[in-house]
Order: sequence, then C-alpha cells, then structure tokens
Amino acid sequence: MVNLLVASEIARIRREYLELLDPDSTGKIWHRIDEMEDNIVITMVIPSRGCSWALSEAGGCSVCGYVNDSSRDKEIPKQKILRVLNEVLHQIPQKKYVELKIFNSGSFFDNKDLPKEFREELLKVITVSEKISKLTVECRPEFVIQNLNDIKAACKLIKQIKMEIGLGLESSNNSILVNCWNKGTTLEEYTESVKILQSLNIRIKTYVFVKPPFLSEAEAIEDTLTTIQQAIASGTDVVSVNPCVVQNGTLVSFLYKNDKYQPPWLWSVLEVIKKTRENFPELELICDPTAGGKPRGAHNCGKCDKEVLNRIKKIVQGEKMTEFDINICSCYKTWKFLVESPVEMIRIRNLSKLRKLNPLME
Ligand code: SF4
Ligand SMILES: [Zn+2]
Repeated sequence: MVNLLVASEIARIRREYLELLDPDSTGKIWHRIDEMEDNIVITMVIPSRGCSWALSEAGGCSVCGYVNDSSRDKEIPKQKILRVLNEVLHQIPQKKYVELKIFNSGSFFDNKDLPKEFREELLKVITVSEKISKLTVECRPEFVIQNLNDIKAACKLIKQIKMEIGLGLESSNNSILVNCWNKGTTLEEYTESVKILQSLNIRIKTYVFVKPPFLSEAEAIEDTLTTIQQAIASGTDVVSVNPCVVQNGTLVSFLYKNDKYQPPWLWSVLEVIKKTRENFPELELICDPTAGGKPRGAHNCGKCDKEVLNRIKKIVQGEKMTEFDINICSCYKTWKFLVESPVEMIRIRNLSKLRKLNPLME
C-alpha cells in the first residue's frame, strides 16, 4: 500500500535526480577489508541493476538514494565484479574466520535486481574459495517470501557457510511505513519473512531506522524503540540501528534543503541505544552512524559530536556509562527541551535554526 501523494513526490524527485546524473557515475564496485585479531570482515558493494522498489513507479523509499550508484539501464559489469571478488578472496589468509558482506543496495534475491545466473556465479566463486565462514546479504521481505526456492538453492550451494540476511523493517508502525517511508512492505511481511528464514536456519539482521521524514524528534525516538522491541519479539538475531543520512535524489533530501527536515540529534541516538541496552543487555546490537557528526548525518552542536559518538560506540559494546549526559555539553538542554516540548509547535519551526540558536545555552 502507498500514499499516492508521497509516492508520486518521491518518484518525481528521484526521476529528476537520476536524469541529471553523469552516466559514468554508475557501475562502481567498492570494497573494504577489515582485519582483526581473529577474524576478517570483507565488505563489498556491487552495482546490480538497482533496487526494484526504487526503480518502480512508486519511487522507492523516502530516505534511500542507493539506486544512484546502481547500474540501472546499463549492463551489470558482471566480469569485473567476479574479477574483483576473486582478487579480494585471493588476498586473504585461509585460516581466519572470514565474513563476507555483499551488498547490492537492493535485494540479493530479487532476480530483476541481481539475475539468478549471476547470483549463482557469485556464490560459486565464494564456495570454491573455501575461505568464507559467513556470508551476509540483504533482501526485501517480499522477495524472501516469493523467492524461497532461490534462497534454498543458495543455502545448498554455499553448504557449510553460514548465511545472514539483512531485512529492512525500519519501523514496526505500518502507518509510518506508508506515510513517512513509502516502504512498500508491512510489519506482517517482515514477520513472515523472519519465520521463513528461521526455518532455513539463516541468521536475521534487522535494520531499524531513526527519524524518517514527518516525525518529530520525540516521535522518532519512540518509533525506533518500539520497532526494536518488535524486531526482537519477531525473532531477529541482530538489530542494526541506523540514524538517517540525507542522501541525494530523495524526498528527505528535498525536505532538508527546504529546512523541513533535520537529521536526528546524536542525543536521540544515544537515548535509543541506552534504553535498548538497559532492556536487552544480551542483544546483538549494531549502531555506527554513517556521517555521524556531519550536517547530513545524525549530529549535535558540533562541539560534542565526537564524544557522544564515542559514548554510543561504548554502550553498543556493552560498557556501562555512569556520567550524566547533561555534563557532556550544554546542547543536551536544547535537545531535552525539544523532545519534551509540545511537538507541533516545535516541529513546524525551522529546526536547523533552532539548533544553531541553541536558546538554552548559557
Ligand atoms: S531502503 Fe532498500 S528497499 Fe528501500 S529503496 Fe533503498 S534499497 Fe530499496
Ligand atoms: Zn553539544
């Protein structure tokens, strides 16, 4: 289900942006190797055709610009991707625990986005190398439901390699998913896909978002906390908390430029992480805010961003923090004022100006 007004705006903004993009900007392959003492994590972003939802008439999700880097109308550079993957696998030692994350910025099991034969070629390269212990990919819930046989075939192919699939729940509130996200999926589809993956012994990572457009800071915090609870109740193995980053060619970017949207405060992210750790101390939790402390990512006043990001990292790792947040920076009071004030009055103001003025600063 979509809100036609929201969906048509998203589709217009995306279409206009993609038309302006340099055609040479598509098809880039990105990878990074993080080597720790006992394990290695390889992250690879491959330019598949692009998320089918983003390329549909409905325009895709309000906050997501990943399709900007996909191959879209061009041929997927299959041979180049296979070559890079082979080279990367060749570089890493055999004996360590190696996790390979392949992100196609869409759905790994959507045959339009990533053609079936090419997906099988990728999986064969990974299996033959005998170096990978865990494979992580992402998929929209509807493709888990529709393409169950393809997932089963992938499990068979990769044999002993443990698979983890990232599902974007984002919000457990269907009204927010329709009106703020234009997500095109529901909580019920997410829950069904979790059950399917559990029955296949696949690990589930759930993406939970902080602050889609049209929510106040306080509403956003509440939405994230409720969504985390719901994801845990549904049976997720991991929760990844992702504060909004303003990406080009999106509705949220359009609102941001018109001062109708501000990314979340890092204080809000900290609040979410603290409460989640208190309530679910054993939960496998991830939160590494992309562009944290930058204008388009979750940020505070600029002076305390590094310290608060560090605090978030430590709490995610399970460290107990005893100091009072209020002592870190005076902008805490501004944030507190914002989240405790009558929502509408504050929301309709230009929030970036409010942040700059910081009226409660001594
Ligand atoms: S968030 Fe996921 S489903 Fe939504 S447009 Fe981006 S890649 Fe597609
Ligand atoms: Zn501050």
